[in-house]
Amino acid sequence: MRIFTHPSPALKQRAADVEGVSRVELQKLVDQMARTMYDTHGVGLAATQLGIMKRILVYDVDDELVVLCNPRLVHLSDETVTEEEGCLSLPGIALPIERSTTVRCEATDIDGQEVTITAEGLLARVLQHELDHLEGTLIIDRATPEQRREAIRRYNEITRTLG
Ligand SMILES: [Zn+2]
Repeated sequence: MRIFTHPSPALKQRAADVEGVSRVELQKLVDQMARTMYDTHGVGLAATQLGIMKRILVYDVDDELVVLCNPRLVHLSDETVTEEEGCLSLPGIALPIERSTTVRCEATDIDGQEVTITAEGLLARVLQHELDHLEGTLIIDRATPEQRREAIRRYNEITRTLG
């Protein structure tokens, strides 16, 4: 499936809770998300990046596919770290983004079972990035106005060149 890229309106909207979706339908959505993530060599993907406005995300940080439905960050550490971050919806752009170093995320898995994930390092960053997507927030929305202007200028240049 094609990944929606900036400035697609789908990327600016808050996704709705997953409810009343059958297990079969959910599996179909997750399969599409996982395939697209692996095809594009991403470490994480939010449903909204495929225009599916539901609170589902997938990631693979440690060679294992993880599916989270209705994820919420119940704890974010005060300690933060700033690192360059890219996004499949903003190809060619990387921005220094400040994130909490550790987070705790509660969600349900594909079978509706409650899961709690305590994460640090790359996984903590991936979770914050993908949760942002479900709120309609992109990395350019977390940059300073100056960084944002420069990133969008570069992005427009790249997308023009690619046609
Ligand atoms: Zn992204």
